[in-house]
Amino acid sequence: MKLLFLILIAPLISYSQTNDSIFLRKIYNTALSKGEAYEDLRELCKTIGARISGSAEAAMAVQWGEQKMKSYGFDTVYLQEVKVPHWERGTKEAGWIRTSEGKMLKVNLLALGGSIGTNGLLEGEIVAFNHMDELKKASKSQVQGKIVFLNQAMNEQQIETFRAYGGCYTIRGNGAVEASKLGAKAVIIRSLGLAIDEHPHTGSMHYADSIPKIPAAALSTQDAEILAQILKKQKANFVFEMDCRDYPDVVSYNVIAEIKGSKFPNQIITMGGHLDSWDTGEGAHDDGAGIMHCLEALRILKVLNYKPINTLRCVFFMNEENGNRGGETYATWSKSRGEIQLTALESDRGGFSPRGFEVDGSEKYVTFLQSLEKHFEPYDLSIFRPGYGGVDISPLKRSFEGIPLFGFAVDSQRYFDFHHAPSDVFENVNKRELELGCAAIGAFIYLLDRNYSIFLP
Ligand SMILES: [Zn+2]
Repeated sequence: MKLLFLILIAPLISYSQTNDSIFLRKIYNTALSKGEAYEDLRELCKTIGARISGSAEAAMAVQWGEQKMKSYGFDTVYLQEVKVPHWERGTKEAGWIRTSEGKMLKVNLLALGGSIGTNGLLEGEIVAFNHMDELKKASKSQVQGKIVFLNQAMNEQQIETFRAYGGCYTIRGNGAVEASKLGAKAVIIRSLGLAIDEHPHTGSMHYADSIPKIPAAALSTQDAEILAQILKKQKANFVFEMDCRDYPDVVSYNVIAEIKGSKFPNQIITMGGHLDSWDTGEGAHDDGAGIMHCLEALRILKVLNYKPINTLRCVFFMNEENGNRGGETYATWSKSRGEIQLTALESDRGGFSPRGFEVDGSEKYVTFLQSLEKHFEPYDLSIFRPGYGGVDISPLKRSFEGIPLFGFAVDSQRYFDFHHAPSDVFENVNKRELELGCAAIGAFIYLLDRNYSIFLP
C-alpha cells in the first residue's frame, strides 16, 4: 500500500513542486527585468505626491489608480465609495523655543493629524517628561497652564523597529488627552523616529469627549534633543502657531482591480495597501510602495497568463492613516455581497528588501505559512511566523470569522527614518528592493491561490 502510494503520488507531488518553482522563477524574472512598479510609484509620488484623505490630491490619486488599473487590462476595475474624515494642516505652522535668557530658536514641527489649531500664537512654559508614565504620575500643579513636552525616544536597542514604534505610540496617540487631564494648554512630542535628524514625523492622535482639546505637534528628533539640553540648564517657553482643523466628511473611494477566479469567482483572495498618505513628503514608502507591490503582483500574474482558481483582488484602500474607513467599508461590503473571503494580505511596511511573511491566524495557518518557506529559499526570504496582517485588512476579521491575515515583512531598519515625515519621498525607495517585494507578493499570492483549500471553512 505504502509502495503503491509512493509510486503513484510521489511523482505528482514533485511534478507540482517543480511547476511551482518554475512559475515563481518567472514571476521574479518579470518583476526584475520587466517591472513597472518603480515607474508607477514615480508617477504617483511626483505628479500627485502627498494625499491625505479628503484632499484634492487624494481625489487625484483615486483617478490615477483607476486609470492605471484599467490600463493593465484586468477583468474588472471599479471604485467603492467611502466616506472619509477631512482634516487639513492649514497654511500656518511654526514653532520656537524661547529660553529664559530671551534667546529664540526656531524648530521643525508638524501638527499631529487631527489636532486643533492654536488660534493665533500660543506660548507657555515647557514642562518636560521623558516617558508617558512620568506624565501620568505628574500632579496638576506641575502641569497646569503649561506646554507638556513628551521626550520619549524609540528604543534603539530593539531590533524590530515596529516594536520600538509601538512602545512610543502612546505619546502621539494619547499625549494630548493625558496632558489635558492635568490642565496643560498644549502638548509637543519628540517625533517617532530612530534617526536624529531635522524631519518631524506626524501621525494620528485623538481626543476624548470629556477632556478639553489642546493643540498637539511633533518636533524633529534633533530639536527634541536640543530642547532637552536647554531644559537641563534653564527654563524655557514654547511658542507656536498652527491653523489646522477638521472639516466635514468627504466622499472618497477604495480603488479595486480583479482577475476573476476560473473555478470559484465568489471566493476572494484580497491583497492591498493604502492609497492615502499623510500630508507631508510623498507617501512613497507609506504606502505608495505597498500598493505598487500588490498592483504589480497582479499585473505580473496577468502578464504570465495565470488563470487563478479563485478571484484575486487588489485593493487600494482609502483612509488608513486617520480613520480606516476604507478597510471598514470593504469588509462590510464584501460580507453583504455574500462573498467568501478566503484570506487577505497587506503590504504597509515600506518598499524595503523583502524578508518574508507573517500570519495573524490560528495554528493551522502558521503551519501552512511555514510550509511555504521552502519555495522562497532561492529568494532569501526567511520570516515565516505568526505576527500581524495590516490595518486595512483587519476589519475582515469581524466580517469573516477565523480568516487568516498575512502581513508582508520587509527589512524594517530604515522605515522610521521616513514614516510620516517630509523625507518619505520617491528618491528614498530603491528600485530593486521594490521589485523584489512585488515578486515576493506575486509568488505568495500564487501559492495562496493554489493552496486555497486550506482556507475553506
Ligand atoms: Zn501606512
